[in-house]
Amino acid sequence: MYEDVSLDPRVVDGEGRDPAGGYERPPRREFKARGSFVERCEGCNLPTLNCLCAFRVEAQSRARVWLLTHPLEHHKPTNTGRLIGDVLSATRVFTWYRTAPDADLLALLDDPRYAPFVIFPDDQPDYVERVVGMSAVERAKLQARIPVFIIIDGTWRQARRIFRKSPYLDRLPVLPLRTQRQTRYRLRKPASQAHLCTAEVAIELLRQAGDSDAAEVLDDYFDAFNDSYASSRTYHKIEQLTPAMRRLLSRQRRDTTSTAE
Ligand SMILES: [Zn+2]
Repeated sequence: MYEDVSLDPRVVDGEGRDPAGGYERPPRREFKARGSFVERCEGCNLPTLNCLCAFRVEAQSRARVWLLTHPLEHHKPTNTGRLIGDVLSATRVFTWYRTAPDADLLALLDDPRYAPFVIFPDDQPDYVERVVGMSAVERAKLQARIPVFIIIDGTWRQARRIFRKSPYLDRLPVLPLRTQRQTRYRLRKPASQAHLCTAEVAIELLRQAGDSDAAEVLDDYFDAFNDSYASSRTYHKIEQLTPAMRRLLSRQRRDTTSTAE
């Protein structure tokens, strides 16, 4: 979940509606302002000046992440939800449409192999009986079920709307993320340092659920993304690799060596 960036002129709120289908559709004016003339890498969608592809590393985790993504987020190159799928290949991404829930998601919610949790703050009284802690994730593992973190990927305002207007989420336990982490996201201006971006939410959940290796890789990959993107905005080519970038490259070498053996 991102901070609400409605004051940012690059972001247009997506309340537009297709009169024919009643589906929500992205507005026509999409993110023309900044970065639309920049040459982008086809692999990572970052400006080619500091491409991220070389730092992509896969990791394993017991818990999975399913993203429920607002349609407008898909178009934003600054979206961090996609970083999760680069690191954890079992990640699923579902686009949220109010009137047309994703059929695959509905089927997966009924699949007994999974124990899905919707990640959301517990700051409203009307769903207090659904709120659980990390111990519920541990219990799911003991029952040989795969814990799934359903993270709503959008601004805070969009996330609240998705949480409220998706009846299939109403029966799921609500897992609020409790963390002292302050955001390190540099590509959008946060309303508060406590508002984490989507990748950071996943990192902290994985860490708390005991998937520390996956959390570390994703954290490094997120840092590399942040630094690469921020540098490209000022037309600065990164010559000196950051510590996170170096760790990712050394992991890649390890992976390659172990596969060759
Ligand atoms: Zn790339």
